[in-house]
Amino acid sequence: MTRNSLIAFLTMALVSCSQPSSENPSQIQTAETTAEKSLVSVKKITDGVWLHTSSQNIPGAGIVPSNGLAVLDKDSLILVDTAWGEIATQQLAQKLKAETGKDISKVVITHFHFDRLAGVDWLEAQGAEVFTHPLTPSLSAKLGTPIPNTSVSALAKLGARTNFGPIEISYPGPAHTEDNLMVWVKEHKLLFGGCAVRAANNRSLGNIADADLSKWPTSLQWAKVTYKDAKMVVPSHGNPAGIELLDHSLKLLAETVNAEKK
Ligand SMILES: [Zn+2]
Repeated sequence: MTRNSLIAFLTMALVSCSQPSSENPSQIQTAETTAEKSLVSVKKITDGVWLHTSSQNIPGAGIVPSNGLAVLDKDSLILVDTAWGEIATQQLAQKLKAETGKDISKVVITHFHFDRLAGVDWLEAQGAEVFTHPLTPSLSAKLGTPIPNTSVSALAKLGARTNFGPIEISYPGPAHTEDNLMVWVKEHKLLFGGCAVRAANNRSLGNIADADLSKWPTSLQWAKVTYKDAKMVVPSHGNPAGIELLDHSLKLLAETVNAEKK
């Protein structure tokens, strides 16, 4: 290879590595202004459980919706992930108060990306207690997303399951990120799979910049066995469905790994 053709080859390689993938929620750091305009919707999905959805306009992917939950815990709410933006999170707290009459007292953050924790600083300032995987604060600091003040050391272990009022917080192992958690709403057999679980209309794994493609399948298999009775599975980006979303995600993983081998 001549020197010029080597440079041309290296340039092409760099460009293709930095192409945005079709769904890339990690680019949201650059899209905070859009976040501030985004509206949040709150929908009751079963007794004492609400789905919250906010969205961002991601370059190369268009409007991407992002889900979290609010779960009634006696006289207050446990929020599972913030809305996708700090102002959107403030709107979310207002909407939940109007809908349920309750305030958010606890927040579970399912990993360190912006779509999960954009509003965490504001929630902490309101007095909410925050629960994350022990790696989440340092990973947030490295990425430059808001840094949760607290974490749960018991969630460090693979397959850890922590009982927490009406929910169980678990650590299936590395998948979409090294720190991704899942949340099980016990009474309703409802699994919040976060970004480790893809929606039926997702045709790719989304943003895999921080993913562990080799351990992701094992983590999903663990969730399949542990939560085999799940009646509803809620993914981060798309419509809730049934346990089949785990197999759908495993299929997308196999396709991605095969494509990378070629
Ligand atoms: Zn993520």
